[in-house]
Amino acid sequence: MPGCSIPLPAVVILPGPPGAGKGTQARMPEKDFGMIQLSAGALLRSAAAAGTPAGLAATAVMAAGDLVSDDIVLAVLKDRMAQPDVRTGIIPDGFPRTDGQAAALDTELSRVGHKVTAAIRLDVDDAAMVDRVSGRYTRATCGGGCHDTVKQPAAAGVCDKCGGTDFAHRADDTAETLRARLQAYHAQTAPLIAGYGRRGVLERIDAMGPIAGILRTLPTIVARIAA
Ligand code: AMP
Repeated sequence: MPGCSIPLPAVVILPGPPGAGKGTQARMPEKDFGMIQLSAGALLRSAAAAGTPAGLAATAVMAAGDLVSDDIVLAVLKDRMAQPDVRTGIIPDGFPRTDGQAAALDTELSRVGHKVTAAIRLDVDDAAMVDRVSGRYTRATCGGGCHDTVKQPAAAGVCDKCGGTDFAHRADDTAETLRARLQAYHAQTAPLIAGYGRRGVLERIDAMGPIAGILRTLPTIVARIAA
C-alpha cells in the first residue's frame, strides 16, 4: 500500500471465496489480539456510500461481481492504513485479490521491514456459497451480521453486536453476481494464494463446518504465527 509507513507487528491475510466467512472470521483476531480488520470490500462499500470518486468508480464494478481496479483498491486501503490504530497488526480481509495487489502489499511491507506473516485460506465448496451469500444480512452502521441458517442472532431480527434491527441484504449477494465473484476468485485470487504456499506461510481452515468450530481454530493459528 503506497504511503504506509507504520510498523506492523503481524500481517495475516485471510483469503477465501465470497461467502467463506472472511468478514466474520477476521473479527476474532481483532477482538483477541488487537489486530485491525481491513476489509477491502467494506472500505469500497463505505467509499461508494460516501460518494467519493473512488467509491463512485467502484460501484458498477462491484454490482457486476467483478474486481475493482488495483489503483482504486490500493487508494482506499492507503487511506485506512494512514490511521494510527493499525500499529498493532492488520488482518486484511479480501485483500490481496490480484498479483498486482499482492506485489504492492509486499513492496510496502518490505519498506518497513515486514512481510506477510501468514495467509490463512478459508476452504469452502463453491456449491455451498449460493446459500451462504443469499442468506446473509449485515448492518451498515455497526458492521454486525447474521445469516438465516448458519449464524442466527440470539434474538430474531436483533443485532447481537449493537441491538439494532435494520439489517440489509448486500446488493451483490445474488446468485448471478456470485457466479462472477467466484469466477474472479478462481481466475485471479486462487493462483496468488498458491504463491503463499510456496513461501511456506499458507495455512488452511476447513470453512464448511459450523462457524463456532472455525472460530475456535483461527485463534490457535493466529496465536502460533503471531508469537
Ligand atoms: P467482499 O466484501 O470481499 O465480498 O467484496 C465485495 C466486492 O468488492 C467484490 O466482489 C469486488 O467487486 C470488490 N472488492 C473487494 N475487495 C477487492 C479487492 N481486493 N480487489 C478488487 N475488488 C475488490
